[in-house]
Amino acid sequence: MPSEPVSSIRGVGSDTAKKLARLNIRTKLDLVLHLPHRYEDRSVVTPLNELSKPNEYYYVQGVVQDLVLKQGKGRSNARVTLSDDSGGVLTLRFFNYRPRWIAVFQKGIWVRAYGQLWGEYRHKSMIHPDFKTFSSDPGPPEPEFVPVYYATKGLTSKHIRALVQKIIQEINLLPKFTHFDLTLAEAIQCCHYPDVTTDEESRKIPRRRVAFDELLAYYLLQQRRRLQHKTFTTRILDRKTRLIRDFIDSLGFQLTESQENAAREILKDMNSTQPMLRLLQGDVGSGKTVVATLCILRAAENGVQTAFMAPTELLAEQHYQTLSEWLDPLGIRVGLVTGRMPAPTRRARQKAITSGDDLVVVGTHALFQDSVHFKCLGLTIIDEQQRFGVHQRMLLRDKGNLPHQLIMTATPIPRTLALYLFADMDVSRITELPPGRQSITTTLHSEKHRAEVIEAVKRHVERGQQAYWVCAAIAESENDEQQLIGTEDVLKELAEKIPTVKVGHVHGQMKAQEKHSAMNEFREGNVDVLVATTVIEVGVDVPNATLIVIDNASNMGLAQLHQLRGRVGRGAEASFCMLNYSSPLSNTQRQRLVHLRKSQDGFELADLDLQLRGWGEVFGTKQSGTENFRVASLADDRDMIEEVNKVGSQLISNSPELAGEIIDTWSPLESDYASV
Ligand code: ADP
Ligand code: MG
Repeated sequence: MPSEPVSSIRGVGSDTAKKLARLNIRTKLDLVLHLPHRYEDRSVVTPLNELSKPNEYYYVQGVVQDLVLKQGKGRSNARVTLSDDSGGVLTLRFFNYRPRWIAVFQKGIWVRAYGQLWGEYRHKSMIHPDFKTFSSDPGPPEPEFVPVYYATKGLTSKHIRALVQKIIQEINLLPKFTHFDLTLAEAIQCCHYPDVTTDEESRKIPRRRVAFDELLAYYLLQQRRRLQHKTFTTRILDRKTRLIRDFIDSLGFQLTESQENAAREILKDMNSTQPMLRLLQGDVGSGKTVVATLCILRAAENGVQTAFMAPTELLAEQHYQTLSEWLDPLGIRVGLVTGRMPAPTRRARQKAITSGDDLVVVGTHALFQDSVHFKCLGLTIIDEQQRFGVHQRMLLRDKGNLPHQLIMTATPIPRTLALYLFADMDVSRITELPPGRQSITTTLHSEKHRAEVIEAVKRHVERGQQAYWVCAAIAESENDEQQLIGTEDVLKELAEKIPTVKVGHVHGQMKAQEKHSAMNEFREGNVDVLVATTVIEVGVDVPNATLIVIDNASNMGLAQLHQLRGRVGRGAEASFCMLNYSSPLSNTQRQRLVHLRKSQDGFELADLDLQLRGWGEVFGTKQSGTENFRVASLADDRDMIEEVNKVGSQLISNSPELAGEIIDTWSPLESDYASV
């Protein structure tokens, strides 16, 4: 049943199929998984004299006392008055009815109707209620909950209800996975036609049961990919020289235990003919780049190239610099490829990649264009994975001869969820920051006290330290909520108020070369204050910058502010973050800023952010591929994730066939997906 198109249902023509497609319903399974979002409670008939609350929905039954038909200009209007034993009266009103259709209402006929109540006292009415007529007293109705579906233009909930009814029996063909009291088929059945005798809480169970299977299917699919991946072979990187040890010795610091553990796990993966696919999770500033560098060295001593991909040009530039500094002395050549490079430079780089002269190549996604051919690619590293979509990730996986892959992310996803979302990968975590990090003192400043902030920047610079000043925009602009201060305004303001301070400027619309030199000037200390847009959000690392001022902070999300704040606190000096806001603040905005002031722990902030915004927003389901869930949602069903992970791995080892059936049920298009 799952993949049969809706057009195979009797009575569904191409017109209806098109409307269904608007609701993302293309197959019969899609249709039965289009669960009702609420129910009409038709379990109790209310006596007419007890209809008391306007706008409320009621189920009523009565005898037609009177029928008034008015034929106006182009608009007909019928009033059908009902009464019952209670002595109450109710008028049913119909506009623009068809004469033949209204003729069923004869005096003395019984009517049962469900609708919303309008008016009060003797003017109580229902407009276009759902109704049934009976020639004699039908007695009390069978209690039922009538499902209400999200509908679309030209396709009512009632129509969908009828279609579901036609095919609901076919769900018995679905896989019989019996981890619960209810099978999937029974659960779907209960969602559409709930048991009226159960209480409200119990009625939620079937939807959760269906959601469980959907969550499970995604997990199984990821696991299947993982197993597939493990059947491939790639070049083992088992040659070890002194390179890694020498490099560690040359660093001015010791690796943290967390870094060492992560590095050990990763290097072990590379020492295998199975291609590595590992996620390295670590909060901003936890030192992922060093760990990545150890892997690059392992690749280098085995004579294979590394592709290192960053989400922005600025970050690619910075990694290029860091890696050149570290690797040049070791005789390892690093190249850079970005989209905005002048063509001749780019061609020269491509040549060096093809010849293998560039042993390490840093770049933006331009790295993975068809025109870039590696001589011998053995390792790919993707930095700040949260900035890439799931499809890009797949694309990279297939580049080259299945190289080992390391994917790094600063998103503080709780472990259980990480094991779920990234079930196709192994996960390593850096759980501590390097020692000696000063905490970042975060303060909030109303626009009214802007002068004090500028004064603080001046004093900071006079102490020989540097600062970022971040704006959400380049020129002053308006968003939905308020006027945003632009970097250009800040430049003017600083030039006027603290003219002795040397100020730089960097934003996303600059040419790569301009960005590069602006960053360099700042890194080398020729510039005291770098006024920037949020292009510096990810990864930028200048340890002597120990103050960050953020304008319109109330308009930014918690995760973004945390990332931005992570630009400071990277050296041994105490660091500061000043968040500027303009009143009035909404409740959420205030909470966000207060949380940020209180906590510096990415995981804790992620949890708070979750409470404020919900899961989808925080973890950007787009990057995980879970946005296509039809029933489940990470927001409502996250408490089941742990169980899903457990049941999922059991299924794979004990009942692989059933696991396959579950995947096929929920992901009929998986084959298309895999070939992306
Ligand atoms: P992120 O995980 O955010 O990418 P980085 O790799 O940019 O972090 O590291 C942040 C800063 O910390 C860099 O300046 C880096 O050289 C430094 N660093 C990394 N590891 C250590 C360590 N073990 N001790 C001291 N400083 C370190
Ligand atoms: Mg980084």
